[in-house]
Amino acid sequence: MTKKDLKKYRLQLEQDRVRILDQLNFDKEQIKDLEKRDIGDIIDRAFNMYEKGRAIEMSEKEKRELAAIDEALLRIKKGTYGVCAICGSAINLDRLNAIPWAATCVNPSTCKKKRKLRRATTGS
Ligand SMILES: [Zn+2]
Repeated sequence: MTKKDLKKYRLQLEQDRVRILDQLNFDKEQIKDLEKRDIGDIIDRAFNMYEKGRAIEMSEKEKRELAAIDEALLRIKKGTYGVCAICGSAINLDRLNAIPWAATCVNPSTCKKKRKLRRATTGS
C-alpha cells in the first residue's frame, strides 16, 4: 500500500467516523424521544416498541463500527493498516474500499484456514 492509499483510507475512516457519530447521536435522541412518547393505545405502544428496538439495534451496530474505525486509525498510526490480523497477508484493496475498517482479509486459502485452526486450538 502506498502513502497515498493510506492517506485516502485515513480520510475515508475519519469521514465515516463523523457520519456514524452523527447517526449514533440521532439514534440516541430517537430512543429518548420514543421513551417519552410511550403513551397511547396498544398499537401506538407496539409501534413505539418496535421503533425503539430498531433504534437500539442500529446504535449497537454503530458503536461496533466506531470501535472498528478507531482500531483501524490506530493501525494506520502503527503502520499495520491493511495487514490481516489473522494471517498477516495484505488485505485486498477492493475489500478495504468497501469496508475501510476491515481488520482481516478473509482470503479462503490462507485466512479461513488459519481461523479454523485457531478455533480448533482454543476450542471456541
Ligand atoms: Zn487473513
